[in-house]
Amino acid sequence: SEQQFSCIGCGVSIQTEDPKKLGFAPESALEKDDIICQRCFRLKNYNEIQDVSLTDDDFLKILHGIGETNGLIVKIVDIFDFNGSWLQGIQRFVGGNPILLIGNKSDILPKSVKHQKLINWMKREAKELGLKPIDVCLVSSARGHGIREAAELIDMYRNGQDVYVVGCTNVGKSTFINRMIKEVAGVNDVITTSHYPGTTLDLIEIPLENGASLYDTPGIINHHQMAHFVDKQDLKLLSPKKELKPKVFQLNENQTLYFGGLARLDYVTGGRESLVCYIPNELTIHRTKRENADSLYEKHAGEMLTPPRKDDMDTFPKLIPHEFTIKEGKTDVVFSGLGWVTINNPGKKIVAFAPQGVNVTLRKSLI
Ligand code: GDP
Repeated sequence: SEQQFSCIGCGVSIQTEDPKKLGFAPESALEKDDIICQRCFRLKNYNEIQDVSLTDDDFLKILHGIGETNGLIVKIVDIFDFNGSWLQGIQRFVGGNPILLIGNKSDILPKSVKHQKLINWMKREAKELGLKPIDVCLVSSARGHGIREAAELIDMYRNGQDVYVVGCTNVGKSTFINRMIKEVAGVNDVITTSHYPGTTLDLIEIPLENGASLYDTPGIINHHQMAHFVDKQDLKLLSPKKELKPKVFQLNENQTLYFGGLARLDYVTGGRESLVCYIPNELTIHRTKRENADSLYEKHAGEMLTPPRKDDMDTFPKLIPHEFTIKEGKTDVVFSGLGWVTINNPGKKIVAFAPQGVNVTLRKSLI
């Protein structure tokens, strides 16, 4: 009889026929307890921490469990993938426990970005997404910036109780935890893993003073993250290690920019205008006439317009248009998981394209 399996990573229905199509897993994978699709397998093996889907029972059990205890929730997001790295509904699950929101990867921000502006934006976005964090801060886990301040906030808000660190994959949760260990514990060999009651998941436990602990919960795969749609090798490109260098384009009406093959921006009306692109330095930007943009993508997505790669094209989501009229000067068009484009003057009409499921939003410029 046909049994239906789903991937513990992204929840997709597993199929064993077509390696190029979504949800593929080899036959041998069906014998395992936890079946994971090839796509998630790649992502999982790129990260160190076990990844589970947000809808996974185990993860919900952990969240419910946290809701029933008293502790501080530390939620890590990638400031370049704010919407893509969001854990929906966390406020509902964690009960009355306070949530400290930490934006990671501040080192990639151009120097001209005002951190306070970014923090204010994070507060507004969080509120819109139904989260009322007790505080918001910015860190670079890779460089160690803001880690001491974050540790102090954690210590203040935890009130002597346990701390649970949550976040989806690729936000830099492991890197953050490793920094925290040095900051709060001072030694590396005090870490233990503890089996969370009623689940198959291990939490990494870092002892704090007065018998409390800091728990690292498993990273979750958010299947609408840009990072989820590209090859493992291209993930590096989407997780820059260096400050973004702005690239300026003077555009005429009806011109289009392609950001690799991952996203596209059509400048429709508003006269000649300069657009400032803050996207990973290694991602190639192609300019074309708007009337040629569709056929260019049909012909060259996966080669000239890359990432994605040729092999990814079957599963890479369609680019979906989002139309905007820029109301205020100095507005950022934010492509979640990629970066943003600053438009300096109001009254411009644009269409921003991103893979289906990937968020595009406007915000007041951070600079
Ligand atoms: P996790 O899946 O949330 O545990 O994320 P990792 O800690 O494995 O990090 C995911 C990717 O982001 C890796 O490529 C890290 O090198 C990178 N990363 C993590 N923290 C930072 C940071 O503060 N700045 C930058 N530029 N990259 C970071």
